[in-house]
Amino acid sequence: MSRKPLIAGNWKMNNSISKTRDFFDEFLKKPLDQGVDIVICPPFTAILAAAEEIKGHDNVHLGAQNMHWEDKGAYTGEISPVMLREIPCDYVIIGHSERRQYFAETDEMVNKKVKAALKHNLIPIVCVGETLEQREQGITMSWVISQVEKALEGVDEKQLKSIVFAYEPIWAIGTGKTASDDDAQQVISGIRNKIGEFSNAEIAGNVRILYGGSVKPGNIEGLIKKPDIDGALVGGASLDAESFFSIISLSRK
Ligand code: PEP
Repeated sequence: MSRKPLIAGNWKMNNSISKTRDFFDEFLKKPLDQGVDIVICPPFTAILAAAEEIKGHDNVHLGAQNMHWEDKGAYTGEISPVMLREIPCDYVIIGHSERRQYFAETDEMVNKKVKAALKHNLIPIVCVGETLEQREQGITMSWVISQVEKALEGVDEKQLKSIVFAYEPIWAIGTGKTASDDDAQQVISGIRNKIGEFSNAEIAGNVRILYGGSVKPGNIEGLIKKPDIDGALVGGASLDAESFFSIISLSRK
């Protein structure tokens, strides 16, 4: 089973249009042909500028950090999948823990967004992960699996291989703490087994599952060596072209 590694950068609420252009000026000079799919998720205001910058760089893709599930309508402040496809954006992060925590995003909303993304040929990067309290209670696996099950409710098994999952322990996001390589592998292989139950071993073997949580050039090598870890969702370290490129070049399998 060969899965191409994927490194996705989540810029969160960082980088103006001019900073976005500065980032790409530096980043696109790097030898990006590393056999790794690259996704960058800028804030909405900078996506068009990013789209102009990456023209002609086929392995660099754009992603949104969120979207609504409806195509259009009276949803002030929201962005639809149709609008994202027009840019064009290929990926969309769904259910990031910051959206769940600060914007009351529920599993039901995550599920609607996953289905809407698939309907519009956007690849959803579905985020799941436990709090520190849940880890200490020993319920990490059951919690994460229940998030996966709810995200996939009503999703056609044939569409499963288009979904990317990101296991992001909440206590590791932006904190400098990472799950150990073995812990990350254990949860991610549990997610893969669950996907196998929803579909079959072949589909489960093709789905890409990322790790996220304080990934840096110094810790990616151990993570990417694990058999079920197919790349990373990177926050802070994706803002700097040099460190993001290092993570990419260290992610070749
Ligand atoms: C994230 O935002 O998904 C993330 C993992 O952030 P960081 O790499 O900064 O922990």
